[in-house]
Parts: sequence; structure tokens; C-alpha cells
Amino acid sequence: MRRTQILHAFDGIRVWQQGDKRAPHKSLLVLLALGRMQRGESPVVEFSQIDTPLKNLINEFGPSGAGQNRHFPFWHLATDVDGGIWSLTGPPSILQRPRGSTPTLTELRQHHIAGGFSADVQAAFQHDPGLIQEVARRILDAHFPETLHTDILEAVGLSLADNNMARSAGTEYKSRNRDPQFRERVLRAYEYRCCVCGYDLRLGQQTIGLEAAHIKWFQAGGPDVENNGLALCALHHKIFDLGAFTVDPSNFRVVFSQHVAGHNLTGQTLLSRHGSEILPPTKSGVPTQP
Ligand SMILES: [Zn+2]
Repeated sequence: MRRTQILHAFDGIRVWQQGDKRAPHKSLLVLLALGRMQRGESPVVEFSQIDTPLKNLINEFGPSGAGQNRHFPFWHLATDVDGGIWSLTGPPSILQRPRGSTPTLTELRQHHIAGGFSADVQAAFQHDPGLIQEVARRILDAHFPETLHTDILEAVGLSLADNNMARSAGTEYKSRNRDPQFRERVLRAYEYRCCVCGYDLRLGQQTIGLEAAHIKWFQAGGPDVENNGLALCALHHKIFDLGAFTVDPSNFRVVFSQHVAGHNLTGQTLLSRHGSEILPPTKSGVPTQP
């Protein structure tokens, strides 16, 4: 397979989405497998061997409790994505099932079903290690907010150290344009304060640790406009993107996930914001009532 064909095939990975809920299971499995490939580990692996890391990864970066569905990407990556990037091995009684009938977790383990990048893709990665990084970067850009990129890379043990080389290697890839003024407009609208906790630390004249968050992830099609923005401190931004809390658009109140728990003072202080209104922006229409 040529480089462009491979990039195109990985770009075709779809994220299941319903309303604001997203399930990037396949992207996370691919990143996990890319990490293994980069480290020179066996490119084909039995499901039972990556069961636990895959579960942890999906639980951390997918919706709450999503790790219980980790068998879906392992199976469907081979059947749903055109271009043959993922292949499975195991007894025909399992592999020849219709596309829709996903084996259970137990079946995948008991029948020693193994999966990994197809032989073509493996050969391309071995020939051009920069391609691993290019695919990883495109998946991160397409499916996850920037606040999570470093954490995900660390979790799967992938290094993008030579990323600039990969970029200059010549591909047709272009990121969706970002509005460079978005951050400044959002921070100004919220008077340079975290709209959840009021954090407003400055170093000299410079605002520090304050970020403009997208209410709807940019990667989910959320636009760079103020009414899709919140000014959040780095901690609130990170846990917002991880799904620890949302802001109810009908009343601008903070709603923490029922799965979040914390016992020390900092955790308790964070959770005590549950149900409280965010600080209002100064400019009208930011954010707007639905
Ligand atoms: Zn905050």
C-alpha cells in the first residue's frame, strides 16, 4: 500500500456519535497498536494480552464506563473500515460470523482471537517509521481535543518526537483552520477568569493557566466562536474535556458526572461547584441560550 492510501484508510475511521456523546474506541485501539508498533513489539496480538490496557484507555479517554465495550473496536476495526488496515486471526467458527454479530469478551479470550495491522500496513510502517507518527498525529487531531493529546500519547507509549520530520515528509494533510483570535475573545468575554472557580492568577501582566475551552469539541465540529467557548483554568479545562463535568446550556449550571469522586480538600472543593452557575460572560450572547 502506498503512503497516501494508508493515510486515507486511517482517515476513514469513524467515531460513533450520538448527540454530544462520542465513543472514540477505534481511534484509541489504533493508537495503542501504533505504540506497540513503534516500540517494536509484535504487531499482531491476542485480545487477552491487550484487554486490560485497552479497557483502561477507553475508560479514561472515552465516555464513562465505555471500557466494557472494548471488544467492539477490536472486532469492528477489521470489518467497518475500508482499506484493510486491521486483520484478525482465529478459528473460522468465530471469524466467519456476519459483520454485525460481535463476539463477546469471553469468546475473544477463549478462542485466542488475535488482531493487528494488516500485513500491508505493517510493511509500510516498518519501511517508513515516520508514517506511524503521521497516522497518530492525524488521529489525535481528528478525534481528541489538544488538552488530551499528551496524556493519550503517554498512555499508549507513543512518541511524536520527530513529528516535524513526519510533517515535512510531504503529505496532502491539512488541519482544519483554527481561529487564532478565539482564545483571546473568549478570555476577554469572561474577564480573564475561570468561569467555574473564578481563578484569575497573573504573572506580572500576563494571565497564566487560563485557557479557552470549546463547549462542543472542535474535533466534534464545534466552531471557534465565542458562544462555543468557556474560559477555564487549566485544571477545569482538563477535567471538562475528560467529561468530569458539563455546563447545562439551559441554566448555565455546572453538572458533575455521577462517576466523579474525590476525598481530599481539593477534590471536595472541585465537586462543591456542582449545581452552581458559571460566572457570566460580559458580552451579550456568550454563550447563547439554546
Ligand atoms: Zn477553574
